[in-house]
Amino acid sequence: MMGLARDGGLLLPERIPQVSDRLREWRLLSYPELAWEIMRLYTDLPDGDLRTLVEKSYNVFDSPEVTPIVTLNGLHILELFHGPTLAFKDIALQFLGNLYEYLLRRSGGRLNILGATSGDTGSAAIYGVRGRKFMRIFVMHPHNRISKLQELQMTSVLDTNVFNLAIEGTFDDCQGILKALLNDLEFRDRFALGTVNSINWARVLAQIVYYFYGAFRVMEQTGAERVVFAVPTGNFGNIFAGYLAARMGLPVQRLVLATNENDILARFFNSGIYRRGSVQATISPSMDIQVASNFERYLFYRVGENPVQLRALMEEFARTGQLVVPPDGHGAVDTYFVAGVGDTQATLTTIRDTYYQHGYLLDPHTAVGVHVARQWQIESAPTICLATAHPAKFSEAIIQAVGKNIAGHPTLEALQGKPTRMDVLPASPAAVREYLDEKIRDDNE
Ligand SMILES: *Cc1c(COP(=O)(O)O)cnc(C)c1O
Repeated sequence: MMGLARDGGLLLPERIPQVSDRLREWRLLSYPELAWEIMRLYTDLPDGDLRTLVEKSYNVFDSPEVTPIVTLNGLHILELFHGPTLAFKDIALQFLGNLYEYLLRRSGGRLNILGATSGDTGSAAIYGVRGRKFMRIFVMHPHNRISKLQELQMTSVLDTNVFNLAIEGTFDDCQGILKALLNDLEFRDRFALGTVNSINWARVLAQIVYYFYGAFRVMEQTGAERVVFAVPTGNFGNIFAGYLAARMGLPVQRLVLATNENDILARFFNSGIYRRGSVQATISPSMDIQVASNFERYLFYRVGENPVQLRALMEEFARTGQLVVPPDGHGAVDTYFVAGVGDTQATLTTIRDTYYQHGYLLDPHTAVGVHVARQWQIESAPTICLATAHPAKFSEAIIQAVGKNIAGHPTLEALQGKPTRMDVLPASPAAVREYLDEKIRDDNE
C-alpha cells in the first residue's frame, strides 16, 4: 500500500519463486485458480482470504475465461479487455480494490486515493474503488480535454466514494497538482493519501497471471513447448509482468516489446541506450509515455540484482537524461527481449488488414503489438499478442483505419444519457487541497 519506497526506489519481491515443476499440474486450472496459485507464492495472506479476493475480482469480468484467447489463422490474441472498463488495467485494479478494502478492514485504516488521468486510466482506477468500504478516490482530469466517452466513463460513476475533478488546465497541470499534494508530507499523512499508479507492485503481481494462462491455452491448442509474447508498451508495467513470468520458469521464448512513436524502450532494447525524448501525441494514447516508470524494476535484474549499480544508473539518468547498459555475453542488450516501433501509419494499416483478412477489429494499442510481432515471427514458437483494450474505446482510430464506425460495445452504449457528476476546479494545488479537505472532513464528521 505504500506504493513508492521511502528512499524513492521501487518495491520488489525478495526473490522470484521458481515454478517449473508446477507447470504440468497448473495447465488446466481456471483463471481464478491459477491466479490464486501464483499470487500465494508472493504473499503471506491466509490462503482462504486470498482465494475469496481473487474470486471476487474476476467474477465481474464478462468472460468466464477472464482473458480468453482468440485464434485467427495462426494469430493468437489474448484478450485482456473483458473487465468493467474494457481495458487491461481492470485485471490489476479490480484485484487492487478488493485487496485494499481487505487490508483496511484488518488494520482499521482509511485511504484516500488521489490520481491524475489523461483520459484512459482513470476509469479503471475508479471502477476498482467504487462502492468499496474504507476508501475514497479523487481523480483529476483536464477539463474538456479528454474525449466525451472517456469523460462519461468516469463521471457516470455516482458512488459516494468517487470524486471526479475536472481541472481547468492540461494533463501536466493535473500531474503537477498531484505531485505537489503528495509531496506535502504533513497533508499526505493527515488525510491518508495514497495512489494506485502503475508502479504499484500489486498491479504487476496481478498481471503475471495472464501470461501463464495465455501460454497454457496456446500450448494446449498447438502442442508447442514454448511461446512468444508481443506486448504494446508504455510504462513497462504489462511487459515487466511477462518478464517475471519468464523468470519464474514459464517457457517464454521471447518477449516482443512494441512501442508507438514514443519509442524510448524500443531504442533501449536495440541499442542499450535509454534516453529521454519529448512526448508525441498518437492514436494509441495510453502508450504516449517517455520515461517508463517500471523500467527501473527491470534494470535491477538486468544489472545482476546489484542495488549499487542500479542506483548509479538511475542517478546518471536523472542527471543527464540518459543511461547506458552494455550488451550481454551474446551481444544483445537482453536475450529475453526484441523490440520495434509501430507508427501511426503502421497501426492503421494493421487494423485495416486484420479486419479485412480475419473480420477482427484490433484497438490501436493492440495493433502496435501485432505490427511489431509480424517482424519477429519465428518458426519454433507461436506468438501470443496481448490485446489491451476493446476497439470500441477508440472509435476515431477505427474510423480512420476502416472508413466506418463499426466498433461498438453494449457497456459503452449503455453510458449514453446516464446522469453524471463532476466538480470543475481551477488548476491550483491550493484549490484541490481545499476541496479534499472539505470532502474528507464532511465525511468524517
Ligand atoms: C496502459 C495501457 C497500455 C500500456 O501498458 P503499460 O503497462 O504502461 O506498458 C497499453 N494499452 C492500453 C490500452 C493501456 O491502457
